[in-house]
Amino acid sequence: MSRAFPSSRAMAIAMFILAIISWAAILSSESKYIAYNITQRIVPDKINVHLVPHSHDDVGWLKTVDQYYVGANNSIRGACVQNVLDSVISALLDDKNRKFIYVEMAFFLRWWRQQSEAMKVKVKELVNSGQLEFINGAMCMHDEATPHYIDLIDQTTLGHQFLKAEFGKVPRVGWQIDPFGHSAVQAYLLGAELGFDSLFFARIDYQDRAKRLNEKSLEIVWQGSKSLGSSSQIFTGIFPRHYDPPDGFTFEINDVSPPIQDDILLFDYNVQERVNEFVAAALAQANVTRTNHIMWTMGTDFRYQYANSWFRQMDKFIHYVNEDGRVNALYSTPSIYTDVKYAANEKWPRKTEDFFPYADHPNAYWTGYFTSRPAFKGYVRMMSGYYLAARQLEFFKGRSNSGPNTDALADALALAQHHDAVSGTERQHVAADYAKRLYMGYAEAEKLVSSSLAFLADSISSARQGNPATNIQQCPLLNISYCPPSEAVLSDGKSLVVVVYNSLGWRREEVIRIPVSSEKVFVQDSEGREIESQLLPLSNATLSIRNYYVKAYIGKSPNGALKYWLAFSASVPPLGFSTYVVSIAKQTGPSSTISMVYKPDGSTNDTIEVGQGSLKLFYSADEGKLTNYVNSRNMVTAFAEQSYSYYSGNDGTDKDPQASGAYVFRPNVTFPIKSEHQVPLTVIRGPVLDEVHQQLNSWISQITRVFKGKEHAEVEFSIGPIPVDDGIGKEITTQIRTAMKTNKTFYTDSNGRDFIKRVRDFRTDWDLQVQQPVAGNYYPINLGIYVQDSNTELSVLVDRSVGGTSLVDGQIELMLHRRLLHDDSRGVGEALNETVCVLDKCEGLTIQGKFYLRIDQVGEGAKWRRTVGQEIYSPLLLAFTEQDGNNWISSQVPTFSAIDPSYALPNNIAVITLQELENGKVLLRLAHLYEIGEDKDYSVMASVELKKLFPNKKISKVTEMSLSANQERAEMEQKKLAWKVEGPAEEPKVVRGGPVDPVKLVVELAPMEIRSFFINFDYLQMFVS
Ligand SMILES: [Zn+2]
Repeated sequence: MSRAFPSSRAMAIAMFILAIISWAAILSSESKYIAYNITQRIVPDKINVHLVPHSHDDVGWLKTVDQYYVGANNSIRGACVQNVLDSVISALLDDKNRKFIYVEMAFFLRWWRQQSEAMKVKVKELVNSGQLEFINGAMCMHDEATPHYIDLIDQTTLGHQFLKAEFGKVPRVGWQIDPFGHSAVQAYLLGAELGFDSLFFARIDYQDRAKRLNEKSLEIVWQGSKSLGSSSQIFTGIFPRHYDPPDGFTFEINDVSPPIQDDILLFDYNVQERVNEFVAAALAQANVTRTNHIMWTMGTDFRYQYANSWFRQMDKFIHYVNEDGRVNALYSTPSIYTDVKYAANEKWPRKTEDFFPYADHPNAYWTGYFTSRPAFKGYVRMMSGYYLAARQLEFFKGRSNSGPNTDALADALALAQHHDAVSGTERQHVAADYAKRLYMGYAEAEKLVSSSLAFLADSISSARQGNPATNIQQCPLLNISYCPPSEAVLSDGKSLVVVVYNSLGWRREEVIRIPVSSEKVFVQDSEGREIESQLLPLSNATLSIRNYYVKAYIGKSPNGALKYWLAFSASVPPLGFSTYVVSIAKQTGPSSTISMVYKPDGSTNDTIEVGQGSLKLFYSADEGKLTNYVNSRNMVTAFAEQSYSYYSGNDGTDKDPQASGAYVFRPNVTFPIKSEHQVPLTVIRGPVLDEVHQQLNSWISQITRVFKGKEHAEVEFSIGPIPVDDGIGKEITTQIRTAMKTNKTFYTDSNGRDFIKRVRDFRTDWDLQVQQPVAGNYYPINLGIYVQDSNTELSVLVDRSVGGTSLVDGQIELMLHRRLLHDDSRGVGEALNETVCVLDKCEGLTIQGKFYLRIDQVGEGAKWRRTVGQEIYSPLLLAFTEQDGNNWISSQVPTFSAIDPSYALPNNIAVITLQELENGKVLLRLAHLYEIGEDKDYSVMASVELKKLFPNKKISKVTEMSLSANQERAEMEQKKLAWKVEGPAEEPKVVRGGPVDPVKLVVELAPMEIRSFFINFDYLQMFVS
């Protein structure tokens, strides 16, 4: 190969000229120091590229929240949030044109309390000038599928109260960029009702995204609530791809995007090339976006650990892109972006319902995490109901900032709502960290609850006024039949006192069950009357779970004398307690009824009838199967069957290597689970309830309970250890079948609140290409699921979040447990294979939980779903103490209600928050439990009389607040942006409760309304003698 060289003379001249030009270029570009012009603001007639610097900091995922914060365990991942905050603050202080948004208050709080006063002053200036903006502002970026709405409100309130107190700031924007699908409740409740002006996120179904890109409908106005309609709508922006920057514009230290090289003395000068790439990426995004404003999310997971590496590049891009002039680049925030979208005065597409389920690929439906880690999901739900009750008791006694109080439980519950916490998509050691925090929070709240109950019970006893010496105990392991105080053998003259607290605003009659060791006991109410009670033998499955798990949790074996559950019906006043006494029966005296045990031998074709009240379940004696459901009161007779089956999880070895894992549900085949024995059921009968015990195989058993006074069946299942020695992961489901003709339609709740209509193999927003006929029809369930036809409706309620569907007409399916052997390639890098260990021996985790089912005449089911649904969320809280003779009953208050004795809240209203805050303010939140049109009696305006809710206090002022109580409601309404929506505005007029009259003090609530108030009292001591 040859090429012609210029002559040496010509070359010398050329070199000389080049040198002059270069020198001139160097002089003109001031290579030693370039003052980048980054003062740029919006230019009306250009495409404006809003650069939004952000870091997505998971409060636990591959590492625990504290490991992420301090930068520990970096062999898993080099991530240190302290570095992020330190370096971002210093980069912002370097130039007042730079901006940054921060989201996760759990991290910010950790950082903030370590800062000097001087640094705090500087940071406050950054916040006031808008350089640093808090977005979302909750403790974490919560999951949207598996949390309960009350937990979402609480964890958001915690972050927002901090921001208000420390910075006087009210976040304007929802930033849910990573959660795996988005709920209707997020849009209207945790969005509009917080006063947010907009909401942004990344993850929606890939088919939905393709259509929206095509139709420029990624930016919408979302009306998440049928009941509240346009009064609770929010402008919502879905990112065109993900929450990272366009390809080629990521600038963490080790990122591979080419930096702008603008020093002519160095090699690889590339300013024009990079500007061209910037402009091309901007135009591509502008092509799928309405208006001349686009947002670039400049950051991703745990970025900005060395913030200058990002800001240096963004400074240069803003400078050179604007010099180029084809598009306009600027530092921005989602708030600024929202304002310009609003100012554009466009009409936006309307979105209703939600964004579930989420798929990022034809075989990758993220519907497994609806059930992943069911034990942790159950624990979170249990703690949630406990926290609600504990805050009430804390308020009744008077809060102590030095403790014990509910603060640690509040913090732990807040972290647990993170989109890699209750979702079940974190690593095993991180799940253990969340559970440990919950336990520590519980342990402190337990002390508070005990002392508060003792205080309330003691408040008329003159002898011990103000000095409740009583030892009140609780039983956090009651779910596995372990309760030392109730199991204690009662010696002569001693009896067990059971204090039963009800955190709901209406009186409840419910059966409580406690484990006891004696078979001769009787139960008295607080007036000394003997009440009906029943002893039920424990099943072998129950005993073996108890023995194994008590050993695993507390390191010692429980004593072996336990024989029975003692069941009796308790009646408890609203926001109050009742007391029951369990004593050893005398030879001749009254005693609780020992249940009749009946084991059909499978030789007859008889039908077995179960139930002492109006609900009866019928089982076939030969097959041991449920066959019929009959309620004689409301004249419902239905064929009903229940069964278990499992999906074998795809192991990722077929053409598409997508495995079933913590996030993704990708089933291979379904297998029914048949009983292994001829005699599958044992029936236990008595005056309070009947039980049907079934052992389906060596690792699935269940107890179905029919209570005399209730019209639903309660099913307690035990599943595990799921066998995997065949090398196949399994996902266990139960099916309830009826003959109802449900036309592919079923209804599932959104975070325990609004029910959304689902149609099998169908999506409202696009023509669904069905790739995964099972996984693609799964939805998250927090409260319940129901189906209906023209005659009846079948409802199932749950005790924790699970995945569920209706794959066949008349049928409901719930996924209850999963054990998988492969990672599903979405980042967690671990198989979802939970085990529990005693000493060094580990076995697969066993799950025990409940669901509840009922069949009603069509149109009658909502009353049960809503009112009993609230009771499932807030179970009666049991506390125990011992008395000698009758010293407790004679000296203590046996029943208590915080509200006026003549008053109760209507059955459609719940007190979802009653709390004395750290600053002494009292926060009251009331929720209407029904949607518009859901029930003919309860879907109506309801009212609450505050004077009767606080009968012993003088209310001096009531201030209605936004949902997170960080601004007055009126102020929030005034600032609300009035977005325009495409299409006809055909919605009926939205109804809301009116203002609270300061004299009458009556709060009105319309269907699905939640109202939050600060209440001031004239004096704080409530229970003066
Ligand atoms: Zn995340």
